[in-house]
Amino acid sequence: MATINYERLQGKLNILADAAKYDVSCSSSGGNRKNQGAGLGDASKTGICHSYTEDGRCVSLLKILLTNHCIYDCAYCTSRKSNDTARAAFTVEEVVDLTMQFYRRNYIEGLFLSSGIFKSGDYTMERLVEVAKLLRTRERFNGYIHLKTIPGASEELLKEAGLYADRLSVNIEIPTKSGLALLAPEKTHEQLKAPMETVKTEIITLKESRKIHKNAPKFAPAGQTSQMIVGASNETDLQVIQLSSHFYKEYSLKRVYYSGYVPILSDSRLPALGTPVPMVRENRLYQADWLMRFYGFGAHEILEPDSPFLDLDCDPKLAWAIRHREHFPVNIQTASYEMIVRIPGIGTKTAKKIVNARKFNQISLEHLKKMGAAVNRAKYFIATTGKNEHLAHLTRDNFRQYVLVQTQTKFKDQRSGQLALF
Ligand code: SF4
Repeated sequence: MATINYERLQGKLNILADAAKYDVSCSSSGGNRKNQGAGLGDASKTGICHSYTEDGRCVSLLKILLTNHCIYDCAYCTSRKSNDTARAAFTVEEVVDLTMQFYRRNYIEGLFLSSGIFKSGDYTMERLVEVAKLLRTRERFNGYIHLKTIPGASEELLKEAGLYADRLSVNIEIPTKSGLALLAPEKTHEQLKAPMETVKTEIITLKESRKIHKNAPKFAPAGQTSQMIVGASNETDLQVIQLSSHFYKEYSLKRVYYSGYVPILSDSRLPALGTPVPMVRENRLYQADWLMRFYGFGAHEILEPDSPFLDLDCDPKLAWAIRHREHFPVNIQTASYEMIVRIPGIGTKTAKKIVNARKFNQISLEHLKKMGAAVNRAKYFIATTGKNEHLAHLTRDNFRQYVLVQTQTKFKDQRSGQLALF
């Protein structure tokens, strides 16, 4: 094994950890890798610890690029070939060594490894796979590994990657085909979706094999994720959540991450420098995503074509309820679980408690409070002996204004420090 020059390595680490910070698709493992006695460490099901930098990005893993050299020229990326920036590349052994050193010192619980493309997709992906393979087989590393798949890498390499990594991610980057064609002309949505299909098929195939052969290997047990950059092109929020919905349905993605574009590169195709996407837009997209995954909402219910952007002053569930007052007030004694979770201020856990408790009791606002509901919001949408009758005559806009003023919750933009109505 070659000797490692730690001073040089530190220089590379500074460049390649900094270049990796724009990828937000690594925030939770969901992996469950038990130490069988001969390995080093565990990855637990509850996920790795989270910690966030000042700008809200996750740093709980050793999060680095193998290299920031790249043969592509995506307008939004600091690693693009035309950008005049310091370049560096780790060797496979250097990444393995760094990971083991940080892991032994308890600095990290795993590795998130991405890369610019040097030479070709396959050449780069081969090296990412080699890192994961050496960690698992030679170092007996039992921590969490998340590998980014490289555009253009062959199916064989993806299939090998999933045997060593807990999670794979395929970043779609720009939500619309036209936006991607403008900002990353070397990529297409079809090309980026192909690896998602491969990963999905392998996960299913090996899960099935394990039912017959107990020793069949696991494939990417923490599943696959993707990331979209929001605000680098002129996509609507409706287009963003429609694409996420498609990913969840077609490719069984575990998560889609939304990264508000931070204008740091001057390019006539991009938003002007110094005009970052407000963090509240990211936050609203995550809330809408949550509604699709856990509350039974379809993308078409959250937003409609004639009003395709999320209301920044109002969370998407509250916004839906205000637009659809014909469904309210809800009688929580008799309504279905599916309708109860649609009441603003009532989450899935509380809705389950209501359904259980109402068999024995008449549920009051006091009960709701004890069950964890945000009663200050919920009370405008549930049938409570005529208390909301005076609101029935209000127009939609006036009702929205009234509810927002009454339920003022502050959203703190972690980047700008500005407060916005939640
Ligand atoms: S391929 Fe990836 S690393 Fe290369 S310029 Fe595009 S986004 Fe950046």
